[in-house]
Amino acid sequence: MQTKFVFVTGGVMSGLGKGVISSSIAKLLQLSDQKVSCVKIDPYLNFDAGTMNPITHGEVFVTEDGGECDMDIGNYERFLNQDIPKSHNITTAQIYSSVIEAERRGKYLGACVQIIPHITDEIKKRIRKIAEDENLDVLLVECGGTVGDIESLPFLEALRQIKVEDGSERVIFVHVTLAPSIDAVGEQKTKPTQHSVQELRRIGIQPDFLAVRSTQPLLEKTKKKIALFTNVALKDVISCHDVDSIFMTPQNLYDQGIVDSIFKKFAKVGLVNASANWDKWNAIVNSMNSKDEKVNIAMVGKYVSLADSYVSVNHALKHAGGKIGRSVSINWIDSEKLDDINQLSNFNGILVPGGFGIRGSEGIINAANFAREKNIPYLGICFGFQLAAVSFGRHMCNLENANSTEIDSETKYPVIDLLPEQKLVSDMGGSLRLGANQIKIKENSLASKIYNSNLISKRHRHRFEFNKEFLDTFEKNGMVFSGESDDGKRMEILEIPSHKFYLGVQYHPEFNSRPGFPEEAFEAFLTVSAQN
Ligand code: GLN
Repeated sequence: MQTKFVFVTGGVMSGLGKGVISSSIAKLLQLSDQKVSCVKIDPYLNFDAGTMNPITHGEVFVTEDGGECDMDIGNYERFLNQDIPKSHNITTAQIYSSVIEAERRGKYLGACVQIIPHITDEIKKRIRKIAEDENLDVLLVECGGTVGDIESLPFLEALRQIKVEDGSERVIFVHVTLAPSIDAVGEQKTKPTQHSVQELRRIGIQPDFLAVRSTQPLLEKTKKKIALFTNVALKDVISCHDVDSIFMTPQNLYDQGIVDSIFKKFAKVGLVNASANWDKWNAIVNSMNSKDEKVNIAMVGKYVSLADSYVSVNHALKHAGGKIGRSVSINWIDSEKLDDINQLSNFNGILVPGGFGIRGSEGIINAANFAREKNIPYLGICFGFQLAAVSFGRHMCNLENANSTEIDSETKYPVIDLLPEQKLVSDMGGSLRLGANQIKIKENSLASKIYNSNLISKRHRHRFEFNKEFLDTFEKNGMVFSGESDDGKRMEILEIPSHKFYLGVQYHPEFNSRPGFPEEAFEAFLTVSAQN
């Protein structure tokens, strides 16, 4: 099989929604019965996204195989309803380190090792390997950054070479740009798109499609002007105007004939009857349309200043809302500024997502305690699990100033402590407990009701865990640890049976949630919150 490629590049500026456009094109090809997957190239020098601050870069998305990836990988998984391995997030650091390692091994003896061809060859090799190993009909590769950036140049050059080597009937370039309208009459400006395409052509890439972001649908005259100046066929200038939900983007692209055009360029013959696929997808999209009756959830966390820092948690709540027919209003509460704890009684449920470090931790501990005392549904994820245990230790087990050693290394009652195998770890990158692990669930627990199973597999990203020395004390005082992993070594789920809904999970359920298929803990939490 010869895999075809769709390469998506970015123009004008960042933040145009290239990830959503890429996911949507991939979705359309999947709906057309193509075996498809996506790759994200991140041209930065970090080896992976794991060491970046979520407030500047958005969430770190964790894959089944323990990759700490760019959040676009999460978009791909949610749109395609398919797991994406970590090899699909390629960074500059990964490419350069393998070339440099190979040079030290003597692979290029005698040669001067250079960006072209050695770096570009390594990039091409990785992309082609994914296509072949996974036997794909189409592989979509999204190149991060904006054309003109120094750091993305080797990647764009590699993509250009693939088109020359594999032939133009196997490769399509889609360039994402912007047509802003700033004057009162709302004239759509084409110059940024013209310049951006010029920049792309300067490095030898002529786009086949332009996905042009705009607030209103692109006018015919705007499209004509863009087509004329960019050498792209009029019908392939696609209007990517604002829509109510990102899940409407595939339909919007489809209505403009993009699938037909892609199939023609790929010289694929025969029409695919995909109506059954579309029916299923449309049912999901419709279920996600906002409903009037809202469930108000307080999200108490540390990284609340950027919505993208908990993007998968937001999505998971919306998936759950779609399933139970309610819309979800997510209210960010900065745990550092939680002076009036009583404000939390205004919400139907309290959710504490993941986090790291001391800042804001007392606010989270108070929120977890408030939820317990006031019988407000509570879902704590990772840090939210750990700090719920801390608050239970302090208030129900008489362990004064109990803490996690991440926050207070001197605490007398270290109810949360470093994983034993982490004690010798000094590197910060890629060294947490990462990826999917199996969890055994206790019979007759809330967790067993939620998952309807005694064995689940969930993704992890943590260095600390519940300290089993305190297990007896906690259980005597009414907490049940209903999930465990690694032969009982680690506690994975906590619950309080006397409470309406009090659940803490050491894993990250949000990474397994998909539109139409909400992760079970989110669905259960939202269902109870909706009745609260
Ligand atoms: N900081 C905590 C730990 O490392 C929790 C991590 C998280 O919430 N992802 O264990």
